[in-house]
Amino acid sequence: MSKWIYFFEEGRSKDKHLLGGKGANLAEMSHLGLPVPAGFTITTQSCIHYLEEPDFFTSHLQEEILKAVSELELKTGRSFMNKEGLPLLVSVRSGAEVSMPGMMDTILNLGLNDERVKDLAELTNRHFAYDCYRRLLQMFADVVYGLAKERFDEQLDQAQKENGKPVQDFSQLEQEALVESYKKVYQSCRKSFPQDPADQLFAAVKAVFASWNNPRAKIYRQLNAISDKLGTAVNVQMMVFGNSDEESGTGVVFTRNPAKGQKELFGEFLLNAQGEDVVAGIRTPEPIQALAQHLPKAYQDFKDYAQILERHYRDMQDIEFTIERGQLFILQTREGKRTAQAALQIALDLVEEGLISQEEALLRINPKLVDQLIHPVFEPESLESAQPIAQGLPASPGAAWGKLVFTAQDAKRYHEEGQKVILVRQETSPEDIEGMIVSQAIVTSHGGMTSHAAVVARGMGTCCVAGCSDLSIKEEEKIVHYGKKSLKEGDIISVDGSSGKIYLGALPTSLIEKNENLEQVLLWADQHAQLEVRANAETIPDLRTAIKFSAKGIGLARTEHMFFGKARILEMRRLILADQEADRKEALVKLLTFQAEDFYQMFKEVGDRPLVIRLLDPPLHEFLPKEDVEIEEVAQELGKSPSLIRERIKQLVETNPMLGHRGCRLGISQPAIYQMQVEAVISSAIRLQQKGLAIKPEIMIPLIAEKKELDYLRALLEDHISHIFKKYSAQAFPYEIGTMIELPRACLIADQLAQAADFFSFGTNDLTQMTYGFSRDDIGKFINHYKNKEIISFDPFQTLDKEGVGELMRLAVEKARRIKPQLAIGVCGEVGGDPASISFLEEIGVDYVSCSPYRIPAARLAVAQASLLKKLEQERHQA
Ligand code: PEP
Ligand code: MG
Repeated sequence: MSKWIYFFEEGRSKDKHLLGGKGANLAEMSHLGLPVPAGFTITTQSCIHYLEEPDFFTSHLQEEILKAVSELELKTGRSFMNKEGLPLLVSVRSGAEVSMPGMMDTILNLGLNDERVKDLAELTNRHFAYDCYRRLLQMFADVVYGLAKERFDEQLDQAQKENGKPVQDFSQLEQEALVESYKKVYQSCRKSFPQDPADQLFAAVKAVFASWNNPRAKIYRQLNAISDKLGTAVNVQMMVFGNSDEESGTGVVFTRNPAKGQKELFGEFLLNAQGEDVVAGIRTPEPIQALAQHLPKAYQDFKDYAQILERHYRDMQDIEFTIERGQLFILQTREGKRTAQAALQIALDLVEEGLISQEEALLRINPKLVDQLIHPVFEPESLESAQPIAQGLPASPGAAWGKLVFTAQDAKRYHEEGQKVILVRQETSPEDIEGMIVSQAIVTSHGGMTSHAAVVARGMGTCCVAGCSDLSIKEEEKIVHYGKKSLKEGDIISVDGSSGKIYLGALPTSLIEKNENLEQVLLWADQHAQLEVRANAETIPDLRTAIKFSAKGIGLARTEHMFFGKARILEMRRLILADQEADRKEALVKLLTFQAEDFYQMFKEVGDRPLVIRLLDPPLHEFLPKEDVEIEEVAQELGKSPSLIRERIKQLVETNPMLGHRGCRLGISQPAIYQMQVEAVISSAIRLQQKGLAIKPEIMIPLIAEKKELDYLRALLEDHISHIFKKYSAQAFPYEIGTMIELPRACLIADQLAQAADFFSFGTNDLTQMTYGFSRDDIGKFINHYKNKEIISFDPFQTLDKEGVGELMRLAVEKARRIKPQLAIGVCGEVGGDPASISFLEEIGVDYVSCSPYRIPAARLAVAQASLLKKLEQERHQA
C-alpha cells in the first residue's frame, strides 16, 4: 500500500522528490536534532493524484490525515480535534521539490474557532489568541476561497478608527466584534468559515494542492523550466508563536551575505510578530545582529544552529526561525538565493574553508551568472520601481540607456555629438553596422535569437533585445508605438538585454571591471575541461576580446562581415553589378587587397591559435542598396544608371534567399569570389611565414549538401592555391579545407563528406532552420505561442533541440569518425555558447565549441561542468 504521509523524523534531505524541498529539509533538521516543531508531510504524489482525480482525497487521504493528526496530538501533548487541553494549532504550507518562493499558498494558525479562541485566550493571553484567529480568518479566506485580503484589512482599519485605538488595545468585546465583522465578509460572498478544525485542515490541504496550478506558479515554472508534473507536498506543522510576547519573535536570515558573499549573518527579525509581518513590511524589522541585545540566549543558539546547518549542507543557507517565549525554533532552511558576485565569493570561500572541493564549486556556479559579471547590469533597487514598457527576446546580455534613434546614420550623428544612443529598428542588416557599433544597445521588433542584430550584438558584447513585437516601429516617421503610447527620436529608454525588458527613462547601471574571483574560477574550469572553447570573430577588437577571455582559437570568421565597410561594399557592389570583365577584375583586385590585409592582421592577432576562415556565405542581394536615395548614390559612385542597378537588383531577388543562391552554391557559380578569398588567405599567410611565423590556414566552405559540391570546390581551390604559391614564389606549406555541416543532408552523408574534408564545423543555426523548417529570422513571431501552448518549451536557435537536430549531429559525428577517427569537429552555431546545450555536445563527441567572444567565460565554465558530470556518471557506473 502506498504511503502518502511521512512524519518529519521518517524522511531525509534526499527525499525532496517525494517530500518537497521544505519537507525534506524539515526532516533532515529533525534528524540533526535541531529544534523543529513537530509535524508531517503529505507527499507530492498525493498532490498529483488529487489534481488528476479529486475523489482521491476522500478515498485515500482523508483518513490518513486524521490518523497523522492524532499522532501529532500525542507527540505534542496538545489537542487539535478535542476541546480539552492546550489547543494544537498547525501551519499548512506548500513545498515543491524545486523551491518556488512565494508562488504557492500557506495558512497559519489552523485549528482555531469561536470556542477555542477563548480557551487559547485563557491559556495564553487574549490579545495573542484573537490576533491568531483574525489572521486565520483572513488567510483561510484568501487561500481557500480567493477572497482579497484587503477586504479584511478594511474591517480592521474601520474598527480601529471607530474604537479610537490600535487593535492590541481592544477589549474582549471589541475583539469579538472585529471577528464577527470578518465573518460578515465571508457571508457577503456566500461563504462560511468551518468551525470544525478537521474540515479546516481538509480544505486547506486541498487549496494548497490546487495552488500548484495557480497562474503565477505556472508562469514561474515556465520561466525556470520546472516540470508541471512534480506537484507540491504539503507540510502540516505545530505552530509556535512569535507573537506570544516581547520575548518572542520571528525572522529570516542568510548565513552569508547574499549580495556580496561575505561570511556574516545577513537578515532581519521582528519581536512579537508572526512570519508574514516580516514580509508585509508594515513594521520595520531590525538587523539580526540586534537580537543579541534583546534575546542573547536565542541569538547565540541561532548562530550555533546556522553554523551546524551551513556545515551540514555545505552551502549558504536561508533560514526561517521563530522564538516563542525565549525558545528558538527553526522552521525552514534552504540553499540561499544569491547574486552572481556572491555565488563566486561563497564558492571560493567554501573551497578555502575545506567544506567543498574545487570540482563541487565549479558544478555549483550557474554559467548564466557568469554573463552578469562581464556585462553591466541595472542596479537592483532601480529595477524594483521601474515598469517595463515592452518585452522582447533577451538576445545579448547587458544593460544600457540612451537616446532613441531609428537609423544607423542618426546613431552615428548623435554619437559624434557625444550622446548615448539606443538603435531601434524593425530589423538590422549589415549596412547598419557602423550605427550598431556606436550604440549602447540595439532593439529590434522582428527577428529571433540568431537574427543579424542578435548575432552581431553578441559578438560586440552590446546589449540587445530582438523580436520585441510589443513595439511597432515606424522608421520613416521616426516614431515607435507601444500600447496606446509612443516615443520619438531623442526620447530616453533603458534596455535590459538579459531579461528582454525595455523601460522608460535612464536606469543606473553597474559593472565590475576586473573580477579576480571569476578569473580564478575559470582557471579551475580550464583544468577540468575536455572540450575546447573557441570564438566566432572576424574584427580585430572582437579577436582581442576573444583572446582576453582565453579563447583557444577562432572557430568561425565570417568573411562576409568584412565586406560592409564603406569602401569595401562599393567594390563588392562593383563586382556584383559589373557588366564588363574589366570592372569585375578591378573590383576583385581591390577586394583582394582589403581581404589580404584583414587576414594578415587577423593571423597576427591570433598567433599560433587556430583560425578558421569561412568563405562567403550570404546571397549577393544582401550587398546591394535598397532605398532609392542609396541606389542613386551608388549609381553615381560606380558611373552606372540607376535603372541598370534596379534591373540587377530585380534579377537577384529570390523567393527564399535562405534556401537559394548562397554558400557553396555561389562558390560554384562564381568561382572568382572564392578564388579571390583563398588568395587573400594564402598570400597573407605567406607574408607571415616570411616573417618566421608558422601559419596553417583553415578554410571552410559553407552550406555543403552534396559530396560532389565539396569535391568540385576542393579541386578548384587546391589548384588555385598551388598557382598562388607559384605566383608569390613561396614554398608550399600545409593548409586545411573543411566544411560546415549545416544541412540535414550533410549530416546524413557525413561519411562521404569526411572523405573530402579536413575538418567539420556544425552550423546549428542553419541546421536548426533547415531541420525544423523554422525561419531563424522569424521565429520571434510565433515562439511565444508555442511556449504558452506548451508545444515547445525553448527556442531551438538558442538551446539545441537534442531530439531532432542533436540526433542528426550525433549521426554525423558517428559516420564521419568511422571514416576519419581523428577528424576535428566543432560547433559554431549559437548553441555552441549555450551552457544548456554543451553537455550534449560533449556527449556526442565534438572537439570544440565556438561562440561570440562575450559568451566565452560562461562557455568555459559550462564545458568544465560537462566534463565533471561525465566523470561523475562514469564513476557511478563503475561503482
Ligand atoms: C550556422 O548556420 O550555424 C552558422 C554558424 O552560420 P551562419 O550563422 O553564418 O549562417
Ligand atoms: Mg550558416
